[in-house]
Amino acid sequence: MEGDPQPATPANTRQGGSVVIVGGGFAGLYTALALAQQRHHPPILLIEPQNRFLFLPLLYELLSGELRRWEIAPCYDSLLAGKGVAWLQDRVDRIDTATHQLHTRGGRSLGYGRLVIACGGEANHFGVPGAAIHSAGFRSLDDVERLQHLLAELKRERRPLQRLAVVGAGPTGVELACKLGDLVEGAAVVELIEQGPTLLPHSHAFCREQASQALRRRDVRLRTHTAVTAVEADRLRLALRSPEAGGSEEVLPVNGVLWTAGLGFRPPALHPAPPQDGLGRLRCGPDLRLEGHDDIFVAGDLAHLSEAEDPLPSSAQVAFQQATLLAANLVHSLAGEPLELFQWNDLGEMMSLGVGDACLTASGLTLAGPAAFQLRRIAYLTRLPGLSHSLRVAAGWLADWRP
Ligand SMILES: Cc1cc2nc3c(=O)[nH]c(=O)nc-3n(C[C@H](O)[C@H](O)[C@H](O)COP(=O)(O)OP(=O)(O)OC[C@H]3O[C@@H](n4cnc5c(N)ncnc54)[C@H](O)[C@@H]3O)c2cc1C
Repeated sequence: MEGDPQPATPANTRQGGSVVIVGGGFAGLYTALALAQQRHHPPILLIEPQNRFLFLPLLYELLSGELRRWEIAPCYDSLLAGKGVAWLQDRVDRIDTATHQLHTRGGRSLGYGRLVIACGGEANHFGVPGAAIHSAGFRSLDDVERLQHLLAELKRERRPLQRLAVVGAGPTGVELACKLGDLVEGAAVVELIEQGPTLLPHSHAFCREQASQALRRRDVRLRTHTAVTAVEADRLRLALRSPEAGGSEEVLPVNGVLWTAGLGFRPPALHPAPPQDGLGRLRCGPDLRLEGHDDIFVAGDLAHLSEAEDPLPSSAQVAFQQATLLAANLVHSLAGEPLELFQWNDLGEMMSLGVGDACLTASGLTLAGPAAFQLRRIAYLTRLPGLSHSLRVAAGWLADWRP
């Protein structure tokens, strides 16, 4: 905890300097918005290179055309207009913690009073040869656009034995494979490849079962115990690891590979080097302060809470909950007050399982099918950033509604 407590007043929060937030994803943007709602909040600067926030859990619905781009990817300038948060479109490359200065790709050097690092993660190809070059990701608007073009091409060509492979049967791989199963309309086989023994190893049994059924209904072929050992322009090299396969190998011709297996982390370079875990995440305490630093906080996927009993999932749900606590802790920290400790409240799981289909578990409730699809949409509507954006989206949905 910080030194002698002082009351929070506009004067001493200003003296403590500004709050700079690096990364405008779930953790960073929602921290900025929550902090801007606090009375006497300090000046807030959000640094984010993209011009649109991306509500990643609804990316599958953008791919399928069930939702529109402006709904799940609002521009930062309209989201933040009049909110008391300044936005700098730039990327932070380097942070000098001794001088409290950060340096951006655009050539700016900026000071900070309190710093939040919330840069999220990126695809992790685990060093598999060719994966970074010949596979596509699924975490950006460009990824969606590229995949839509590929789908259109596959449907136009309709050559025999066209095939799409999704690598990794975690939530993103399963949800994407289900959507693709509907969207290919018989023009290609969709294969979901997983090196472990099962899909969705960390999910609720109900969701796992619903997902298995959804994949079967769409003729998505799930291959477990199968590791991708190389990705080439038009084929995958696989090692089959089930006891029956006895370590044999296979070459799988493919028209496209979607890589959803694993997250890697490349935060801005910090000097001196901070404590990191094996994946590159920054180690922080339960109050979300970077270990060894009173004025730097970490949140979202990039935060590794060292004292947590179980590792927290890399999820929007965790990032969202951290943002609320972090906003309060920034104010406490500037005022010299004791900080609050983060405790994750697991609210359940929701998964998109194809066009108009989903499943969810929450507070003892389990639901699947079109009703779950609608409930999931409504649940996310309440989580969209900023009330005015949520209201615009809700108005659009009401206008489209056909009883
Ligand atoms: C397709 C998909 C579906 C998902 N579905 C769900 C779901 O249903 N439920 C759920 O709970 N979670 C889901 N997740 C996970 C969830 O989206 C992440 O856990 C969440 O986005 C993490 O938030 P974050 O703020 O840490 O990172 P992000 O949301 O990734 O944001 C990080 C931001 O930092 C910016 N940035 C990166 N480097 C720099 C830098 N050097 N300088 C400045 N800015 C930088 C990036 O541009 C980005 O905007 C999904 C993820 C994906 C990819």
